[in-house]
Amino acid sequence: MSLPAIDQEYLVDFLVKLLNIASPTGFAEPAIAFVEKELSQFSQLKLSRTRKGALVARWKVESDLSPVALTAHVDTLGAVVKEIKSNGRLKLSRIGGVQWPTVETEGIWVFTSTGEKIRGSVLIDTASGHIYSSAGSETPRNDDHMEVRLDARTTSEKETRELGINIGDCVAFDPRVEVANGFVRSRFLDDKACVANIVSAIKSLVDTGQSPTRTAYFLISNYEEVGHGASTGIPADVTELVTVDMAVVGKGQESDEFSATLCIKDSGGVYHEGLNKKLRSLAGQHSIPYKTDVYPFYGSDGEAFWRAGGDVALALIGPGIDASHNYERAHMDGLVATTNWIMAYLLD
Ligand SMILES: [Zn+2]
Repeated sequence: MSLPAIDQEYLVDFLVKLLNIASPTGFAEPAIAFVEKELSQFSQLKLSRTRKGALVARWKVESDLSPVALTAHVDTLGAVVKEIKSNGRLKLSRIGGVQWPTVETEGIWVFTSTGEKIRGSVLIDTASGHIYSSAGSETPRNDDHMEVRLDARTTSEKETRELGINIGDCVAFDPRVEVANGFVRSRFLDDKACVANIVSAIKSLVDTGQSPTRTAYFLISNYEEVGHGASTGIPADVTELVTVDMAVVGKGQESDEFSATLCIKDSGGVYHEGLNKKLRSLAGQHSIPYKTDVYPFYGSDGEAFWRAGGDVALALIGPGIDASHNYERAHMDGLVATTNWIMAYLLD
């Protein structure tokens, strides 16, 4: 049996739109709402929300087999306003594993609690080359020295507060999305690429009049980057969970941007051998290019579910993403391979 064709134009278009919606962990509602709206066009799906705000889509089919689930997350790295400095600039508290050098000079939006958006950028506090010269490069990139310069007239804490900015406001780094020559370059492909894989797999099945073999749940989680996204939201009768999240590309890694990867082990331990075996076999049957790999500094939403007591067979697949949690990059071949793998799994 051959897999349905993937509408690649749709996949990229959906992905670019999702990447351009700011959704740091804790402030991911606009991205959840966007995916919800997109999935609402498929009458096969019944959509609901967890109390935590994650999106659950159920595709129910008549079958005696137990249900399965897939999960991916829309929340991303980001920051909140930690302190307003006496010069009117902001100190930040980072969300998730943001490394300061990766966002130095990046554009940001501050989303105030009253619904305003204020533009700015991230700078080191010794930014001017004509004042600090080479000393600027030696300043440590840490919470004390990195600051937000607002594109608003303020030179004092009072003026910044008058803009409507408060402690705890969300700060989102620009994703800088660019599509060129089969590559998608952007921040936060982790894990929006995989949300796009799931959504486009569903679309391909719907477009060709096919359904999953077993009832399938799709959990779009919103707290992964802080470690507990999918700890809840998977129904108790689900027996297998496939986490769809980025594969680590770089020195010492087997993964690449042109394949999907089956992660055997990461910092959270080893995945489920039986489900891994099934996924390998499906990849073989459908000639899906895939690698197996081990991720050095990585934990997944599926493991969050395991830790919370979830009793399922668990696996992790995803497209290779270069320079993760930095200025990331994916390739269409990896995205297509992952989408095909999801469809093969659903149709098995
Ligand atoms: Zn991720």
